[in-house]
Amino acid sequence: MPDWQAYDWREDALCADVGDPDAWFPGPGATSRVVRKVCAACPVRRPCLMFAIENGEAYGIWGGLTERQRRAYAAANGIPYRANWLAPDDEPDPEGTAEIVDLRDRGLTYAAIGEVVGMSRDGVRDRYLKTGRSA
Ligand code: SF4
Repeated sequence: MPDWQAYDWREDALCADVGDPDAWFPGPGATSRVVRKVCAACPVRRPCLMFAIENGEAYGIWGGLTERQRRAYAAANGIPYRANWLAPDDEPDPEGTAEIVDLRDRGLTYAAIGEVVGMSRDGVRDRYLKTGRSA
């Protein structure tokens, strides 16, 4: 198994060479579209993403994904996610509903989705059924 904890991949990080590093930590409501385009072209995207997942990075764009997207990616790929907190944007919201529907369509159970979005199994089920879909 690769050692994602090793730091040498950072030598090739595109974000180290372009613009403002704070752009990778957008505030609430700010877009991350531009920095995610940089990540998409980054040669070390994979080790960057795995480093963030294995360290439970709470904030910022890593490997082109937000924290919520990193948790979803880990869940969908069976990667243990070391999350011992909930990020501020983890509160239920309309975007969360879209994520629940997406994960359900990909075959995750209500309980597994709950682990991703920080909700109970029943809460996820209620939110899903309120969209008009069947269980
Ligand atoms: S994937 Fe994105 S955040 Fe990670 S090293 Fe590359 S540019 Fe930086």
